[in-house]
Amino acid sequence: MGLSGAAPARRIGVFGGAFDPPHNAHLALADAAVAQLQLDVLHVVPTGQAWHKPRPLTDSAHRLAMVQLAFANHPRVVVDDCEIRRTGPSYTIDTLRALHSTEPNAQLLLVMGEDQAHSLNRWHEISAITQLAIISIARRAENTKAEGQFDPKNLPHAVFQPLQLPLMQASATEVRARLAAGEGVDHLVPDAVARYIAKHLLYQTTR
Ligand code: ATP
Repeated sequence: MGLSGAAPARRIGVFGGAFDPPHNAHLALADAAVAQLQLDVLHVVPTGQAWHKPRPLTDSAHRLAMVQLAFANHPRVVVDDCEIRRTGPSYTIDTLRALHSTEPNAQLLLVMGEDQAHSLNRWHEISAITQLAIISIARRAENTKAEGQFDPKNLPHAVFQPLQLPLMQASATEVRARLAAGEGVDHLVPDAVARYIAKHLLYQTTR
């Protein structure tokens, strides 16, 4: 095909997280990414074994089910269970490489909230990550994760694309704490997720 007929590279977003449980800020971030980054598809990737979270996560089958409910009606979002299916620690680079080998011509974009950006330097094979993907960081309300603003100079070789998101207070920590205290979370999670949590008696104690 000649240059003039070449289709533009597909843009594939990757949004990983523990999603323990998924909440409204995750949905807002995903929708903002699809719209602002002109994504053809956004892979929402619940982590399998989180190497960087000190707390044991809720069973991956529950987290996957909640993510599927939460994102059921979100256009261009696919829930990708690749990290749950993989054995061993979940590394983002493995997910990016798998997508890259399936679609070598696509542009990958790694989407995250600002708290994650602060630890990017310590991520497994970070330089390979920044070679494969554009990094797109949404600001995060400071009282949820108080680390200040991310400085892109911390990752000199990365390519960044801005992602605007109104500051949102929601965190999975708050959702779990409220549930353990017997408080409602209807304002923080989608209805289907609240129903799933209630049905399976999740998060009844803090851990
Ligand atoms: P926890 O409170 O258990 O640490 P969390 O609310 O941070 O969980 P994760 O599943 O760890 O949720 O986050 C997945 C992704 O969503 C991360 O990139 C995180 O930065 C982002 N994110 C979560 N909540 C917000 C928020 N309120 N604003 C912006 N980004 C967010």
